Amino acid sequence: MAITKIFYHTDFENHIPTLNNPECSKRVANIINLIKEENFANISFVEPNKIKKELIYAAHDKNFVDETLNKFPENDEIVYLDQETPVSQGSKDATLRAAGAGIDAVESILDGSCKNAFCIVRPPGHHACIDRSMGFCVFNNVAVAAHYLINKYSFSNIAIIDFDVHHGNGTQDIFYNNKNVNYYSTHQFPLYPGTGDLNETGVGNIFNVPLVSGTASDTYKKLFQEKIINQLKIQKPDFMIISAGFDAHSADPLANINLVENDFSYITDQLKMIANNYCEGRLLSMLEGGYDINALEQSILTHIKILQT
Ligand SMILES: [Zn+2]
Repeated sequence: MAITKIFYHTDFENHIPTLNNPECSKRVANIINLIKEENFANISFVEPNKIKKELIYAAHDKNFVDETLNKFPENDEIVYLDQETPVSQGSKDATLRAAGAGIDAVESILDGSCKNAFCIVRPPGHHACIDRSMGFCVFNNVAVAAHYLINKYSFSNIAIIDFDVHHGNGTQDIFYNNKNVNYYSTHQFPLYPGTGDLNETGVGNIFNVPLVSGTASDTYKKLFQEKIINQLKIQKPDFMIISAGFDAHSADPLANINLVENDFSYITDQLKMIANNYCEGRLLSMLEGGYDINALEQSILTHIKILQT
């Protein structure tokens, strides 16, 4: 049995392949080769299916979903769903497979064919709100997966941990009044999208950890331990979902937090420990941001290295 299933499809390279955008195809184009070169003992690769749109309705407004699905171009034009969210001809399949990866990964974790999963997907999801695509994100991949766990398998104590350098305003929006999910986020503040302050607490289920520009490894790890890990020990979740953005890396061009690859090992290890202690190891991780290609690739490798042991 593979401990970790890696979900990936070449469709993710066909989402805006030409535009000079930080959220570009190059982010993932070489990642599967690099993972294979590592010869990890306990992984297997899976191509995710496209999601049925009814499963997206669980996390988003139905009209928004239907209207968005009708906006994808069928020729070589680029359509902007919002100022930062361009889509191309290949984006519809990529979007449906990105959300579908979370569903397929949940099924694999629950049927015991893997312990955890990492979905290397584009477009990312954590800025997508109930009725709005934004910030490179069309639909909210982790929120769709969490709703699937709640609706199909009656999970009621899920933890979503978001270590992307940007606040996951979309995920917070979707679960702001939903006690089935605790949302935890570390993010540079202030920074895009502007949300994520300490006083945004939902129904006691939102845990924001804003970080000042320039925060480096030691301070980050201390805060992560105090504010995230300690709170997870209180929550004792039964399923863990990670919004894995690697743009808090010091090399990232979009932000100013100074983490290095090793810090992502630390974060992953800490979260895996919580999953082992409370969730029988059940952990789903989905790619969000990360815009320095080399830093992203190396960080993903450290993330997988820890997950699969
Ligand atoms: Zn980000």
